[in-house]
Amino acid sequence: MLHFILERATCYMCACRCGIKVTVENDNVRFIQGNRNHPTNQGVLCAKGSAGIMKQNSPAKLHQPLLRKPGTARGAGEFVPISWEKALDMLTARLQNIRSTDPDKLAFFTGRDQMQALTGLWAQQFGTLNWAAHGGFCSVNMAAGGLYMMPFAFWEFGD
Ligand code: SF4
Repeated sequence: MLHFILERATCYMCACRCGIKVTVENDNVRFIQGNRNHPTNQGVLCAKGSAGIMKQNSPAKLHQPLLRKPGTARGAGEFVPISWEKALDMLTARLQNIRSTDPDKLAFFTGRDQMQALTGLWAQQFGTLNWAAHGGFCSVNMAAGGLYMMPFAFWEFGD
């Protein structure tokens, strides 16, 4: 059994980036705890941070593209796995059609990818104004509030 503790990681479950120690066994995350030596959280871990293990181990985690099962209604929740090649071919055909007719018909939303400069550039190059990332529902509002009130954007980081 390969067992080690990753001593210097940061939690990715919100923008605070608390210090964490991650116990790994045989390539599986087994346990997450706060890092007492980290200046932001000094060992404290919130419930969301503790639940970060489910981001790795959740049975609902997607491992490959899924296509709605042919003949089923949207929302029925029935999918079949497809290859990345097939998924990319299908998306390319659909996006080519949208881009050549009305690019603003593409609403492009990304999750916590930390590549928002890149995805934003991609959306601009595509030609749609309709793009956003999850930060608009989360830390960006906190940062905007902080700027109006303190004026600090991310009080957790002291900046
Ligand atoms: S506040 Fe909670 S979710 Fe956010 S980084 Fe710290 S432990 Fe993770």
